[in-house]
Amino acid sequence: MTMSSVNKTDVYLKRFIAGVEKRNPGEQEFHQAVAEVAETVFPYIADKQIYHKMQIMERMAEPDRVIMFRVPWTDDEGNIRNQRGYRVQFNNSIGPYKGGLRFHPSVNLSVLKFLGFEQTFKNSLTGLPMGGGKGGSDFNPKGKSDNEVMRFCQSFMTELHRHIGENTDIPAGDIGVGAREIGYLFGQYKRIENRFVGVLTGKGMAFGGSKIRTEATGYGAVYFMQNMLEYKGDDIRGKTVCISGSGNVATYAVEKVNQLGGKVVTLSDSSGFIYDPDGINAEKLAFVMDLKNVRRGRISEYADEFKGASFHEGRPWGVSCDIAMPCATQNEINRDDAENLVKNGCIGVSEGANMPTDLEGIHTFQNAGMLYAPSKAANAGGVAVSGLEMSQNSSRISWDEAELERLLKDTMLTIHNSCVEYGKNKDGVDYLAGANIAGFIKVADAMLAFGHT
Ligand code: NDP
Repeated sequence: MTMSSVNKTDVYLKRFIAGVEKRNPGEQEFHQAVAEVAETVFPYIADKQIYHKMQIMERMAEPDRVIMFRVPWTDDEGNIRNQRGYRVQFNNSIGPYKGGLRFHPSVNLSVLKFLGFEQTFKNSLTGLPMGGGKGGSDFNPKGKSDNEVMRFCQSFMTELHRHIGENTDIPAGDIGVGAREIGYLFGQYKRIENRFVGVLTGKGMAFGGSKIRTEATGYGAVYFMQNMLEYKGDDIRGKTVCISGSGNVATYAVEKVNQLGGKVVTLSDSSGFIYDPDGINAEKLAFVMDLKNVRRGRISEYADEFKGASFHEGRPWGVSCDIAMPCATQNEINRDDAENLVKNGCIGVSEGANMPTDLEGIHTFQNAGMLYAPSKAANAGGVAVSGLEMSQNSSRISWDEAELERLLKDTMLTIHNSCVEYGKNKDGVDYLAGANIAGFIKVADAMLAFGHT
């Protein structure tokens, strides 16, 4: 690009971002997600006038529709409680809407719009025919009885069922929505609709679930890191890894790092993190899974259980490591955290969580020349196996575990190679640009084919 075209792109970019901020006041997470994509896509489309003429980025930054609804439920004391439910159907250009449901008190429209926007690019990257969507509620399952969670899920689905369907919109789990919640949601859908269809993914094995789906996001994020290292002639074997979170993504990331010969020394939850210099082996990981999934306890209990481990408040990014894998939530790595990681010798980041690094943190990693795998590429393994669950449900078959793990591994390598194809530059690979551009092209070209829709 010439100097004047660089300036022109910069002007378009600033105008576009200012427009998004004006149309979506106060939605900070959504602004952040759109800016992160636009910073890399605008230079790519600078000399491709058709995308400008057809207002593709402007249209991609607007959800197809947003559904908001009241979710009343009754707690164990008989009190009527009131929550807000959402489904953001972001973009169905390349397939039915697909994306998780999040139950967490921090859920609001901005969070779900950022997640739905990201999901559109991620799903495109998988190569499967899935559009982007996201939903959830400000309901907090923490501290609630099973019966309370069930009543909430049933009330939530009593409204949601009319907006979803196996060829329309197929939700899945996310923060606060695991096997228990998916069971309650699917049971209520089936009851209201009197149809047994694959309308949710992440289902239990007894009612249409897919093997490897539970493991897929964490495993996939580790495979992606392994692919980046191998591309540079390196390996995960012998590496020390800091992981945040202690839920679905984090725990299966630990399992795969262990299988590939690395050592994980941290896990966290919203109250703090544990540091175990000896590594979180299979026995300790089984303790964590039982603690978080069955007893629903706090990660601090790990330090009471295992000698040599300690519990600390805050986030784990001050711990020295070769690789960091944020697997908890958005914006859990800021510039200071990123600088700490760089200073302590970290060479690579693979994002299991969605948008865990803020824009300044990303720029810090990139300026330090680190291997940085953005979430829409690194954590796409989960939705990829959800796509395979949909295929199995449609044809009423069930693939075996080895076959599904091979497909997951192949998908992560294909995504890696797409990032390399679109992100390679004189200094190496810009995985962020590669993921954004590769994800953009397919959706944008479908939108071009549809004309003004
Ligand atoms: P879980 O609910 O299983 O676990 C979430 C973990 O993150 C818990 O340890 C939780 O701690 C911690 N956490 C949540 N919110 C915060 C917060 N505000 N501050 C600090 N810690 C927090 O969720 P998942 O493992 O499924 O999801 C984790 C991330 O991965 C999310 O960003 C999600 O969008 C993303 N993701 C998940 C996929 C999946 O297949 N499940 C697919 C792709 C992405 P606590 O128990 O204290 O709340």
